[in-house]
Amino acid sequence: MTLPTIAFDGDDTLWHNETLFAGTQQHLRDILAVHVPAETIDRTLLARERANLALFGYGVKGFTLSMIETAIEVSDATVTAAEIQRLIELGKAMLSSPVNPIDGVDAVVESLKRRGHRLMVITKGDLFDQESKVARSGLADLFDAVEIVSEKDEATYRAILDRHEIAPADFVMVGNSIRSDILPVLALGGHAIHVPYAITWAIEHADNTADLPPILKAGSIAEVPEMIAGL
Ligand SMILES: [Mg+2]
Repeated sequence: MTLPTIAFDGDDTLWHNETLFAGTQQHLRDILAVHVPAETIDRTLLARERANLALFGYGVKGFTLSMIETAIEVSDATVTAAEIQRLIELGKAMLSSPVNPIDGVDAVVESLKRRGHRLMVITKGDLFDQESKVARSGLADLFDAVEIVSEKDEATYRAILDRHEIAPADFVMVGNSIRSDILPVLALGGHAIHVPYAITWAIEHADNTADLPPILKAGSIAEVPEMIAGL
């Protein structure tokens, strides 16, 4: 049997990410608290993010523009230039904030590498930001390939597997998002291990949880090597 290729999602699988967005969103609420309650801000921001995904894709830049549009909308266009500048600074701070690997990630990746698995990162978001995060994570040398994509759907995974000449049966995807990391890979005939993160971005929630196929779930990333050995 071929030793499977193991691919890891980046955000909230290899390193913390959603906590950074949640922290920034709290600042947005504080800045706009004079205009509307937090629930209105959250609802408006999510609607803006959804609408902007098709235009800007995933990542901090699109999120920053969505925060600015939210500020304009909930303030009835009375938000000041100084307040908008603060939102831009919040976005810039996200791009330069330290990359915090999830506990145990380096040991897991190193042990899979020692076993001889080919290892990949498959992540979506701003190209520049994601490349920089892989580099800053300190894990880059352990991976044979890093794929930064605009969407994680079946077509994307099929193209990656074709390019690297990997059969779906010899591929395992490890990630925190059922919608992006698990379902498309299972649909292709690959393997997937779900490692939930404490917070899931609303847009990553799987649409219809009633119809989900059986999903392998790890309590933490530390359990992943054992689960892969048992596949
Ligand atoms: Mg993720």
